Amino acid sequence: MRPQGKKGNILLIYTGGTIGMMKDYPSGALRAFDFDQLLTKIPELHQLDCSIESISFDQPIDSSNMNPGYWAKLADIIEKNYDRFNGFVVLHGSDTMSYTASALSFMLENLAKPVIFTGSQLPIGDLRTDAKENLITAIEIASLCDEAGAVVQEVCLYFEYKLYRGNRTTKVNAEHFRAFNSPNYPHLIESGVQLNIRYPYLFRNNDRKALVVYKEMDPNVGILKLFPGLTKALVDAVLHSTGLKALVLETFGAGNAPTDVWFDKALKEAVDKGIHIINVTQCSGGGVVMGHYSTSEHLRKNGLINGKDITTESAITKAMYLLGKNVSYEEFRTVFEVALRGEMRQN
Ligand code: ASP
Repeated sequence: MRPQGKKGNILLIYTGGTIGMMKDYPSGALRAFDFDQLLTKIPELHQLDCSIESISFDQPIDSSNMNPGYWAKLADIIEKNYDRFNGFVVLHGSDTMSYTASALSFMLENLAKPVIFTGSQLPIGDLRTDAKENLITAIEIASLCDEAGAVVQEVCLYFEYKLYRGNRTTKVNAEHFRAFNSPNYPHLIESGVQLNIRYPYLFRNNDRKALVVYKEMDPNVGILKLFPGLTKALVDAVLHSTGLKALVLETFGAGNAPTDVWFDKALKEAVDKGIHIINVTQCSGGGVVMGHYSTSEHLRKNGLINGKDITTESAITKAMYLLGKNVSYEEFRTVFEVALRGEMRQN
């Protein structure tokens, strides 16, 4: 089915980020400003074929200050307004946007409406800003619907003419307008003269169950990136850190790691203690194939979880989500290797 109309009721949620920042004097540093001022900078919003209401964090933040508490707040705003709106557009700093989009994709179970994250590299008041296109098209996409309901029914990220599945994205550039990439999953929509919607790639939740919102994210997780020369002292310090329940291990290539006896032993002891270790590649594309090389066989034997082609952003937030749900040790292992919201390949 193809979209028949674009009319809709959209909730714009402003969390902060460059899009709504202005220069602070005399330091010249960018600081978030009031949301009402942001709206006056885009009179074009009134021309859109949908009605827009907005809500703002009391204190808009630079997304470097984002944390699970704010994710819960965002999830709560969406939950409370879910029935009243056709779609949600979240204005968010680009620095941690992929983490928040990934987190929200897990927190919002049975989502059947669009939640679209966007932001910009230049503030909205800047002459050459990318903010207007990002915001206007994100709203247009959020209001797309056909007889079956919303065209987009998942958490996405829109930036520089492309809509991506949020939990597949990663920030790849700090200065180009094309700041995001989705290395292991195709983009969902491309904006040109028309919106080119790539229907086969859209996520569909066929259960038609009611939205369930999880707000407990367990932050007792960590990320360790391997590099040649990594010391035993560092590995031990990480694996023995107080409260650690899950570790995302960024390995080489197709999921490979050193075979030193001390390293092997450290991983095995941690897994035996009940710490979940997830094998994720540090390459920007492709994924883990445990056992493909002999340098990953020992990881499989030691009980590491296969992160397949998941991004680090998605892996860390999926771990927080599953731990927050208090699933059993075995369930965590099994469920982690299954795609819940299209965040990893199925096999
Ligand atoms: N530091 C900003 C933030 O993430 C950068 C941006 O918005 O693009 O909040």
